[in-house]
Formats: sequence, structure tokens, C-alpha cells
Amino acid sequence: MANIPKYYESLNIDFKPPRGNWMDRPLNIKPGIYCYPARPEVLKKAGMNDRSDWGKYWVIEDEDWELPDDWKERFLNKMRDMLGKYRTFKIYMDICVRCGACADKCHYFLGSGDPMNMPVMRAELLRSIYRGEFTKTGKILGRLAGARKLTKDALRQLWYYMFQCSECRRCSVFCPYGIDTAEITIMGREIMNELGMNIAWIQESVTKCLFTGNHLGLQPHTYKECVDTMLMDIEDNVGISFEPSWNRKGAEILFVTPSGDVFADPGIFTLAGYLLLFEHLGLDYTWSTYASEGGDFGYFTANEVAKRMNGKIYAEAKRLGVKWILGGECGHMWRVLNQYMTTWHGPIDFLEEPVSPITGTKFENAKAHKMVHIMEFTADLIKHNKLKLDPSRNDRLKVTFHDSCNPSRGMGLFEEPRYVIKSVCNHFYEMPENTIREQTYCCGSGSGLNASENMELRLRGGFPRQNALRYVREKYGVNMLACICAIDRAALPPAAQYWNPDVGVCGVTELVANALIMEGEGPRTHNLRGFEIATWEPEP
Ligand code: SF4
Ligand code: SF4
Repeated sequence: MANIPKYYESLNIDFKPPRGNWMDRPLNIKPGIYCYPARPEVLKKAGMNDRSDWGKYWVIEDEDWELPDDWKERFLNKMRDMLGKYRTFKIYMDICVRCGACADKCHYFLGSGDPMNMPVMRAELLRSIYRGEFTKTGKILGRLAGARKLTKDALRQLWYYMFQCSECRRCSVFCPYGIDTAEITIMGREIMNELGMNIAWIQESVTKCLFTGNHLGLQPHTYKECVDTMLMDIEDNVGISFEPSWNRKGAEILFVTPSGDVFADPGIFTLAGYLLLFEHLGLDYTWSTYASEGGDFGYFTANEVAKRMNGKIYAEAKRLGVKWILGGECGHMWRVLNQYMTTWHGPIDFLEEPVSPITGTKFENAKAHKMVHIMEFTADLIKHNKLKLDPSRNDRLKVTFHDSCNPSRGMGLFEEPRYVIKSVCNHFYEMPENTIREQTYCCGSGSGLNASENMELRLRGGFPRQNALRYVREKYGVNMLACICAIDRAALPPAAQYWNPDVGVCGVTELVANALIMEGEGPRTHNLRGFEIATWEPEP
């Protein structure tokens, strides 16, 4: 792993643009700002375009990537195919007027000062090839029309910067034409995937998910053991014991959450929250060791792969005969579900329109995909007074909320998490207006970029969010950052450790469960993390 600059060194961001035309500028590859490439055997195992038959295992620093003889043809054929298939892609290639309204809206540009991280420039990398290879004007006028030919150098540049976009869509909020640069990098990644050009962190997760059911590659028994371990901690800290049900046919609800919640700190405390909440309600639900992943890293790779992965959840819901699906705190799961799922699989007729068995609320917004977000579900319970709560148990916490890009900007889930937090905590503070809700800043590691070798980019990209956090930390003494996405729960702790070392990170359902008064509970002296409630401060 590359050396990470000290935080005060990272604050010296040089925004002065380099001289000369960007097309002539050599690619300045910096360790710490890219992820390792996907291994051919892992691509092959997933039935994807592996490179084992045409060249060595490549790394970005290599001058010669030993591409196959027909690499250019493959790339352009795929691009042509996608331009024909996806109208938005063609429109986004044509209509940018280079007004620059998006230029200073990307967290990677703000944290690095690299002009190629301006959304307009990131898109220009692909757009210039589109002009040079697919438009008459570009072919005739060349650079005068902002066009260039597809060369190996252009390909390397494209790979480097397409994987420096966390596909958060913040830039699209500010574009007067609604151009969505995230869509462009999604397309760019898919085209490069034709040449087996992917990254290890994403591809390993995809392949594991296809074979074991989740990104972490947890076997069914291991997955259950992780949950069992948390049940033991619950017994210690809450004083009650119970058994959730597994792979149970005929349950009313299938619960699916990202595997990060089952395995990684601090997500495991969110997991404890789900367990306690469902036990509190006596919910008729089941976990599945087959559909043991809510996230979909296929979405960061290629459409077909995303579809294969998403299909597992629905196959399992059908097999178990549940009525509907409840989803945990996950970011891109919601974008995939709401924006792609019914296009991929058609109507989900075998499930029912979700109705809360506790309040009778019909979740009409989930009519098509039959899946309800845990925040909608919980907010509805609180609104109908169905939870016994003692918010004072969270009194040591001064909480702020990070709107996770996909559920918030992507899906409009702004008020539910705030309503839930305010119901279970007495001290809540908002970060500045232009950094929350629709204008929220990315955690810095979305879209599969949370690999450890990519740490400098993550910390730089996390800077705008952390800067806003610093504001509420200094003004109100905020010591806890809540979020509703498993990638956030993985990405925000190291970023906070770097920029705001005394602020902890949690899921919202962890806060709910700390406040829940459980039937038969022992004296609640300790919270879910095992810290004394009276004195607890979040671990930095
Ligand atoms: S704001 Fe939109 S039109 Fe303006 S430069 Fe950015 S992408 Fe192009
Ligand atoms: S989608 Fe997000 S990460 Fe990508 S260019 Fe836009 S603002 Fe930057």
C-alpha cells in the first residue's frame, strides 16, 4: 500500500490547472489513487471476459499492456452497441456544452485538485473518443472538434479515471442539461470490461457472490455463525436470548441486508439492531443463507452481471414463498432495485404489494419491486407508536446524519432516517445545507472503490464530507456520524479517523436498538457495543 500523506499535507490542494492541452499531458499515475486490476482467473470463474488467453496480468504502471490484437475493434464494437442500445448514453455524448457548472461539484476534484477529476473532464475522456471514432465532424476536424482516436494511452487514461468516479451522481444535480456522469462511467466501465479491464476489489466480490451468495464469500454456515456471535453479545448486553429463523419456507417476509453488516465493524452493530427490532415486533420473517447479499457489485461492472446477482434475491423469495422483502441499510441495493430490477426481470408477480403486518400500512411506493427499505418500515412503526423507546440511552451521543448517495439522491429517502434518528436520540444536528439531502457528498469510496490500496483517493474524496462533519463537530460537539449504507459504514471510519478522529460511525438501526425497551430485558447498563451507556463515547 502506498504511503498516505499526513492530513495537513492533504490540505495543500493545488487547484492551479496545468498548462497545455490535456490530450498531450502524460498520465501521472500515482500509487494510492488506483485499485489493483481483476485477476484473469477470477474473471474466468464468473464466466466473464478474462485475459488469460492474450496477455500477462497487467498493472496500470506497465507501459505495454499486451492487449489482444483486436482490442480496438472489441472496444469500439461494444461502444457502438451501447450507443445504439442506450439513448441516454448517446445523448450524454452529444449534448454537453462544457459550461463547467459541474466542474467543482465532484468530491474527488475537491479533494485532489486534479482537473481530470472534474466531471466534465472525466466524461470528456470517453466523449473525445466518441467524437473521434463515431462522428463525421470529429473525424474531419479532429482536435478542433475535441476529438481523438482510441489509442493505448487513451485507454490507460480512461481506465485510471473511470475508476476514480464513485458514481455518486452529485454532479448531475448541478448540470443544466441533467447529464449524469455516473451513467457515463458506468458505460465506460462496461465497455472496458469487454477487454477484461476491471478491478480486483469489485471482481472478487462479484465472483464470490455468484458462488457463495455474498460479496465476502461467507459460506452459509459461516454467515449463520456470524449472526450467532452477535446473538451472544446481545445476550450479554441486553440480557435476552432468542433465535431468528433461517431459510424458512412460508415466512411472511424475507430480510436481506449487505454482508458487510454481518461481518464488519461497525456494521455488525446495525445487524444487532435488526435482530432486536424484529424480535421486539415478533415479526414473521426469515434470513436466507442463499440470498445473503443485499449489495450488487455487478452494478459496478456490467449490466448482465448486475442482473445475475440481483436475480438471486428474487429466486430465493420465490423459493421460500414469502409475501414481500424487507431490505436492510444498503446504498446501491436501492438504486439497483428501484431503477433496474423490473426492467431486468419483468413484473415480480409472485410477491404481494408490501403491507406492514404491525401497522397495516401499504407501501405503495414498493408496488413494483415488492421490497421495503428498513427506514421506511421503522419510520412507519414509530409514527404508529409501535415501538417502546427510551431515547435517553443515546444521550452520550451527539449525532449527525450522512445521506448515503443512492438512497437519498438516487431514491429520495431524505426524511425517514431523520425522523427515526430524532425519535431515538435527543441530540441531532444537521451538517450544512449544501452538503446534505440531494446535495450530499459521497463517503469517498462508493462504486467498489473501497480497496485499501486506493486509500489516498478515498481519503481525498472523503474530504468534502469530512469537512462538513468537522463543522458540526466543532460547533455542536457532534461525536457520531449515522448513515444507512454498508459501504459508508466501511468507508467513513477510516476517513473520519483521518479527518475527524474523535467521531464514530454507526447505522441508524443501531441507534434504534439501543433505545428499544425489550420485553424481559436485563438492566440496560451497556449498549450494543458493550460500552457502559452512562459513560459511553463512540470509539474513534
Ligand atoms: S454541467 Fe453539464 S453541460 Fe455543463 S460541463 Fe458539466 S456535464 Fe457539460
Ligand atoms: S458521479 Fe460523483 S464521483 Fe462521479 S464525477 Fe460525478 S460527482 Fe464525481
